[in-house]
Formats: sequence, C-alpha cells, structure tokens
Amino acid sequence: MSVALRKTQAVVIGRMALGESDRLVTFYTREFGKVRGVAKAARRPRSRFGGGLELFTQGQLLFFETERSDLAQVDAFDMVHPFQAVREHLDRLAFGSWVVECLGRLSAERDPNPALYGLLLRALGALEGSVRPQRAAFGFALRAVDLLGHRLRLDRCLACSKPSPADAASARLDFTAGGLVCEPCARYGSDGVDVSGAAVGGLRRLRTLSWDEVLKASVPLPLEAEMAGVLEAQMTRLIGQVPRTTRFMTQIRRPLSHAGGSGAATGGPG
Ligand SMILES: [Zn+2]
Repeated sequence: MSVALRKTQAVVIGRMALGESDRLVTFYTREFGKVRGVAKAARRPRSRFGGGLELFTQGQLLFFETERSDLAQVDAFDMVHPFQAVREHLDRLAFGSWVVECLGRLSAERDPNPALYGLLLRALGALEGSVRPQRAAFGFALRAVDLLGHRLRLDRCLACSKPSPADAASARLDFTAGGLVCEPCARYGSDGVDVSGAAVGGLRRLRTLSWDEVLKASVPLPLEAEMAGVLEAQMTRLIGQVPRTTRFMTQIRRPLSHAGGSGAATGGPG
C-alpha cells in the first residue's frame, strides 16, 4: 500500500465528531479541491490540533493519502487566519455557513479549482469586514456558479433569441435550459423562476464588475433580494435540495433573499 504526504493551503468548510475522540473534517484546498480527512484524537483536551480545526479557519494542511480510503489522514493544520469574527456574529455565521455548505455540496472531491478557493477566501474576508453579510454571500454565489460552470445565459431568450426583457417586463429563468426564456416562450411549469427585467439587467451588470465593485455596488434592497432569490433557487437546483443553512436562515428570518436587516419584510421583530 502506498502512502503520499500532501501539503496545501486549505479552509475548514465542515466538521463532525467521529468515534470516541476523532474529528471528520472537510477542507476546501487550493491544490486538491475538496478533501475530507480524519483528524485523530482532535477532540481530546490536549489535542495537537488545538482549536485550529474550527469552521472557516484557513491554514496550511498536511495530510496523508492512502490507496485504501477516500478519507485522508490529517497530519497537521497550521493556522494562517482563523476568520474568528465570522463565527462570533449570528448573521455572519449564517451567511458564512451557507457559503461553505454550497461550496462543499457543489464540488466533487479532489477536483481542484484554485479560482474557487480564492473566491472562498475573498467571501470570508468580506464576511469578516464591514460589508453586509447578505452582500458578501450574494457576491460569492454570483461568481461561484460561473466558476463551477453553471453560468446562466441572460442576454437573450434561449427559444426565440429576442434580447433580454426591458426593466418593466418579466421573463423566466429556465435552469434546465441554462438561461433566460421570454414570457411568451416560457412553458407552463418549466423548471425555473420568474424574474423581472430589472433583476436580469442587475445580474448582467453585476457579473461584469470586479469583486470589490460587487461589494460596493449601489443596489436597491428589493432588487438585491430578488437577484439573491434567483441565485438561491439556482443553488438549490444544483444541489438537488434546499441547503440546510437556508432553512436555518429562514428560521432566524435572514434568508439570502431577505430585503433588509430590519425584519420588516417578513413582519418579524428584527
Ligand atoms: Zn422568447
């Protein structure tokens, strides 16, 4: 049996208890994409991993691969940046959890995508800063679907080739077809969501901006909420079910498509 030692930058995107004292950790790594590994004795009080295997932590990962198992053996994880602030605030934690859940569910194991790794770090950095957490998660989703090869075609109707609807008109985003279908062409019951011309225009505009510009872009909250709803629907469709964290965010009244932080849109108490 051959064993190989690997070294890569990585972020903890999931973790669960395993057996008596081990931990099963899911990493998103720069060099290997998603890697699941067992951290032996990580739940013991004086574990050599210390507190390093917390969710969102970025570090230098050393792991062993064996031919026998899909699971790697975590040898060391040296913290580079803890992203602690993302864990300490309910909104940031909720949106950060949504980001890493979508990433984890949409990427296959050992399928490297360094651009996606970079996007994850930028999203966590934004969640740690002063940006609204909704916007940071929105920016992640907007770019992640492209990087994962699921870019929707938004410039014209896929059926009749008529250009995108005007702001006042509406259309349907057909996720199976991979883009926009104008209102007359949309089949009843087709797989997708109704979308306003303003949201189509907004998504097209935001896709052309840099990451920092997306974070700073002035977008009315109801329009941002509609666009976020589209991305959330696309994520749900790609994953095959509603992400667990979306259900959590709905419970705390902070879905990605929530228009504001006041709770007014859902009638809740902020
Ligand atoms: Zn059409």
